[in-house]
Parts: sequence; C-alpha cells; structure tokens
Amino acid sequence: MANTTAFDLIIIGGGPIGMACALEAKQKGLHYVIIEKGCLVNSLYNYPVNMTFFSTSERLEIGGVPFVSNNVKPTRSEALEYYRRVAISASLNIHLFEKVISVTKNETVFEVTTALKKYTTSNIIISTGFYDIPFFLNVPGENLPKVTHYYKDPHYYAFQKVLVIGANNSGVDAALETFRKGAEVTMVIREDEVGKRVKYWVRPDIVNRIKEGSIKAYFKSTIAAIREKEVDINTPDGLVTIENDWVIAMTGYQPNLSFLEKLGIELSNDNIRKPVYNNDSHETNVKGIYLAGVICGGMDTHSLFIENSREHAVKIVADIFKKKQ
Ligand code: FAD
Repeated sequence: MANTTAFDLIIIGGGPIGMACALEAKQKGLHYVIIEKGCLVNSLYNYPVNMTFFSTSERLEIGGVPFVSNNVKPTRSEALEYYRRVAISASLNIHLFEKVISVTKNETVFEVTTALKKYTTSNIIISTGFYDIPFFLNVPGENLPKVTHYYKDPHYYAFQKVLVIGANNSGVDAALETFRKGAEVTMVIREDEVGKRVKYWVRPDIVNRIKEGSIKAYFKSTIAAIREKEVDINTPDGLVTIENDWVIAMTGYQPNLSFLEKLGIELSNDNIRKPVYNNDSHETNVKGIYLAGVICGGMDTHSLFIENSREHAVKIVADIFKKKQ
C-alpha cells in the first residue's frame, strides 16, 4: 500500500486547474494528493451566488469530462456541481480545509507542512490562483464591518445605501444586482468610464442606468475615508460626503506571490512580477516546483483563465512522468 504522506506529486490548491493536474496525474499513475485550504474549488464557491461565467461550459471542462449546463454560459452553482461530479467520478485524492503553510527542500525531496501535518514529495505543483488577497483601499475605515471585498448576494442590501467601488465586471454586477433589489446605489470609479472589459451584454445596462441617474456614479474619483454612516469621496469637484450603510469594494485581487518568493521562485523585476518558469514544462527555477493556472501570470491576473490554463496540466504532468521513467 502507498505511503499516505510520501508522494510523487503534491498539488497545492484545489481549484479547477489543480483538479485538472490531479486528473492528469491519476491517468499517468502518479501517487499524488491535492491539498486545498478551503472547500473544493474554493474560489468559485466564494464568487457571487448569482454569477454567470463569461466562458461557455465546454471551455470550463477539465480532463475531457463533458460539462452540460442549462444555458450556453453556466452559472456558479452549475460549475460547483460540475467540479464536484468530476472529483467524485475520478475519486480524486483531495485533502480539504488544510492550508499549506511552508515548503522546504531536504536534499532530493520537498517537505510540505500544512496546518495539520507534514508530507514529503518529489514534485510540487502550485495552483493557488489569485482570489485570496484583495487590493486594499488603504483608507481610514476600511476595516469597518460594513466594508466587504467579497460580494455574495444582493438581497442583503435591499433598501440600503450601498457604495460600490470599481466598475469592472464584479463592480458592475454588484451595482446592478443590488440596485434591482431596491438598494440606493452609488459607484466610485477611478477612471472616466465604465471598464472596457465588462461583459458586452451587461455594459449597456450599467451605462444607461448611470446616464438616467438611477445609479449615481462619481468618475475619476477615489475614496478618502469611510465612517459608520458616511463616506468621503475625492472627486474632480472636491471632497464630497455621502450617507452610506454598506461599502462593496470590487477593486480586484492579487496572487500570493510572497508564498512563491519564500520557496525561492524568481519573479520578474517589473510591475507584473511574473514568476520565472519554463514555457514547455512550467517548471520554475526551483527544480521540482511547477506552476499551473492563473498564478503563472503574476500580477497580470486577466490573461489566464480556466479556459486557457487547463492545458498547463498536460505539460506539467508529462514532464514529471518523463523524469520518473
Ligand atoms: P483558483 O480557482 O483560484 O484555485 C486556487 C485554489 O488554491 C483555491 O481553491 C484556494 O483556496 C487554494 N489555495 C490558495 N492558497 C492555498 C494554500 N496555501 N494551501 C492550500 N490551498 C490554497 N475564468 C474563465 O475561464 N471563465 C469565466 O467565465 C470566468 N469568470 C470569472 C468570474 C469571476 C467573478 C471571477 C473572479 C473569475 C472568473 N474567472 C473565469 C477566472 C477563473 O475563475 C480563474 O482564472 C480560475 O479560478 C483559476 O483557476 P486556478 O485553479 O488557477 O485558481
């Protein structure tokens, strides 16, 4: 029987791409485990409850398992159902609610320490995504309980004064949903227009709501301070104070690059801080450590999605398998 704590491969992160790597590893007969700090596909679980993917369902498929959804673009709950089914049908080896805290190298093997125990492995895939650390506003009052960086459900905000910060997909969805459930919505937008990446079928809706004044928007504006019942906004016309019950800060997220740096993985010197890895194998400058999924882009979190990074699994596992022969 295989040793339960010594592996050919440990996959850190049980998102869609970590799962794709596990499916590939299983197919090649590698002794692997996924270690995930939350629930299965934790990032997707934490997305807004009513969200619809911009990708069609077949582009979110992993391991060749068909993804059937009611409409062309699946919802969050259909995606959760799909990835759960994949995990069950392939009997993937996943340890959930177990955070990887550190990785050290002892001669030829890595020692992976989690909140629960230690493992050893010859290879590691890091597929930790980008959804764990929000871009903070760094303004007074940001720590008040009324401020969230993770919007879930519009009902909560019915008949409340809601401020949405940011006008990309997440901000626009939060503004429109809460507005339609009876919230009085104000948006604070750093740029002079709604984000260009906003889904093409949603953008006219928000632009028209702003134009007709049913959603108030401050363009070229930033937050100065947040208080229990008010928010100060820096606008081109000076400081404006508005009444406010809740702040939904949709300012984006960043990958945990310091985790990579601690393992000795080099990052580019520019603003992107792209990790250094071989394009064919995805092996980093630290031999035996590979990167998969959106983490490969560094701070550029918009160029890699599920649909264009699921192929990483094949390249990585082929390289690990080749070394094992
Ligand atoms: P993730 O799905 O983020 O998985 C990373 C996992 O690692 C998480 O489960 C996390 O809990 C875990 N983890 C992190 N640190 C540790 C640790 N130390 N120990 C253990 N586990 C850890 N992409 C598309 O292709 N199509 C879409 O339509 C689409 N829509 C999106 C809509 C929204 C609102 C958002 C925010 C993103 C969307 N994306 C879409 C992007 C897509 O969700 C991500 O690109 C995708 O989740 C990346 O997969 P991943 O496996 O690389 O990372």
